[in-house]
Amino acid sequence: MKEKPVSPRAQTRAELQPEQSTVTELVPGIYQLRGEKPGSHVYLVKGDGRNALIDTGVAGKFPVLKRRLAELGLHVKDVNLIILTHEHYDHIGATAFFHRTAVVTAHRLAANKLELQDEFVTFRKYRDQSGKPFWVDVWLEDGSTIDLGNYELQVIHTPGHTSGCICLYEPRARLLFTGDTVFAGGTLSEIAVGGNVSDYVNSVRRLSNLKIKQVYPGHGKVSSTPEEDLPKAIVYAQTMLDDCKSFFEAFIKTRKLQDKLGSAFGYWTRSRDEEK
Ligand SMILES: [Zn+2]
Repeated sequence: MKEKPVSPRAQTRAELQPEQSTVTELVPGIYQLRGEKPGSHVYLVKGDGRNALIDTGVAGKFPVLKRRLAELGLHVKDVNLIILTHEHYDHIGATAFFHRTAVVTAHRLAANKLELQDEFVTFRKYRDQSGKPFWVDVWLEDGSTIDLGNYELQVIHTPGHTSGCICLYEPRARLLFTGDTVFAGGTLSEIAVGGNVSDYVNSVRRLSNLKIKQVYPGHGKVSSTPEEDLPKAIVYAQTMLDDCKSFFEAFIKTRKLQDKLGSAFGYWTRSRDEEK
């Protein structure tokens, strides 16, 4: 992992208080612009004459994103393409600021929700985040290819966390941008509105068939051990499925017990606050 060079003064500060660089060149021409909470990481892919951003973080952190791009010598208008990994507020928030000059793309199941401003799934207002509406110019499908010349991004539909999740696979450099589908260590995300566990199981199984050198997730650390992480992710997804079965078995048993015990069940399950 090649880090962006820093000025001698910044290096001194970094030595005093070790801090992860906010802009990192991961491989030549691909940069991670570290996520400003609560936003996701943003990745910049400098193509042959075209620049793509993968996700845009939250709207409130757009000024920071703009500064990070300026560090790389880019203005907002120099971003030609936005690829959204899924429909959540922390990945899509600043998209409208680029839309005047950039083409916006997302999987069709995410695109539909974004265009209809479906707050039930994007969580934008629920998380008290601003953000202007925008539309999605190109609705992606599983198997779509985005050719940037020096890099090619293959779209893999990976529903599970949400229905509109995609991962982007660069086959020559063997890189995988995973959004919220898989994190370092094989950790999976929550099942958000519109997602489901069984799709998640299939999605991580599909990813495990790819030859991958590095995983670039939407949050947390980059992973250089995908061969260890993806089998763990499959086990994790399968465990979620098994836990759901156990939960519903216990739930049914509890309901039957409730029927037997009647008001006594309520007495024993009442919270302490209610008793006060
Ligand atoms: Zn998400």
